[in-house]
Amino acid sequence: MNDCLFCKIIDGDIPSKKVYEDDLLFAFHDISPKAPTHVLLIPKKHIDSLNQAQEDDKDLMAHALLTIPKVAKQLGLDEGYRTILNTEKGGGQEVFHIHFHILGGGSMPFA
Ligand code: 5GP
Repeated sequence: MNDCLFCKIIDGDIPSKKVYEDDLLFAFHDISPKAPTHVLLIPKKHIDSLNQAQEDDKDLMAHALLTIPKVAKQLGLDEGYRTILNTEKGGGQEVFHIHFHILGGGSMPFA
């Protein structure tokens, strides 16, 4: 999806502060952090939102969910963190490439 901001970040066409990457996922610092640590974890496959995820995406979504603790550990969020997945405009989603927010490193509440 050529005009997707997060696809351009994955491709390196738009710079980001990368914190994690594997074959299927990419994670980077949010440009406008809502917590001392605020990272976005995204699948490399373009999926607009959770509402567009298909049965075929089950393994990918499970992999993303299970990667969140690894990224959080790497970020030093040893006391815990908040994970947010905004879905569609009514859920506060602004960028239509599915992403998990990982927020921590300070006092709740975040976001
Ligand atoms: P949403 O509201 O869609 O769940 O969250 C989108 C997030 O993407 C926001 O927290 C926003 O700050 C972040 N964001 C928007 N544009 C950019 C960008 O160009 N680079 C980075 N690193 N984050 C962005």
